[in-house]
Amino acid sequence: MRIVVYPGSFDPITFGHIDLVRRGMRISDLLIVAVLANPNKKPLFTVDERVAQVKSALKGFKRVKVMSFDGLTVKFLRKVSGTVILRGLRAVSDFEFEFQMALMNRKLDPGAETVYLMPAEQFTYLSSRAIKEIVQFGGDVTGFVPAHVKKALERKLRTTNLVR
Ligand code: ADP
Repeated sequence: MRIVVYPGSFDPITFGHIDLVRRGMRISDLLIVAVLANPNKKPLFTVDERVAQVKSALKGFKRVKVMSFDGLTVKFLRKVSGTVILRGLRAVSDFEFEFQMALMNRKLDPGAETVYLMPAEQFTYLSSRAIKEIVQFGGDVTGFVPAHVKKALERKLRTTNLVR
């Protein structure tokens, strides 16, 4: 059984992430979307909010599980008996950071293999950060995120004016 872990901040989940989950399912028996708590990154949404949003966005997806984690991805991978880390590559600009992280994770755990998938073209410019900025400045993010995420963003950004 191939267990693939797709780690990330998902602050919040976008259609780009969902596209990657669909693709990841084709190379896994079980795909675990692992939401990184990481308070150092000062996410807009709490980890519980992000997990709930991801669960709701992926409702009906068979063979997909949503969990939160903290600390090293390779440790989490071992804990859930996974062997593959899934990450997305949108543009060359993602490459340098991702390359470094993949090699570091391989060093930490030679049993961990990182696989990169490219989203559909229309999602290559989508990032959680851009979504937060668009909402903050009154733009419409329909078509970029699920409706429940759009609502949550508008609610949250009405009371917080800082995009992190
Ligand atoms: P992180 O803080 O770990 O980068 P993100 O939630 O921003 O967390 O991203 C998690 C993973 O999903 C990363 O591998 C990122 O490249 C990928 N990703 C984010 N947005 C997209 C997108 N629009 N298309 C494909 N992959 C994406």
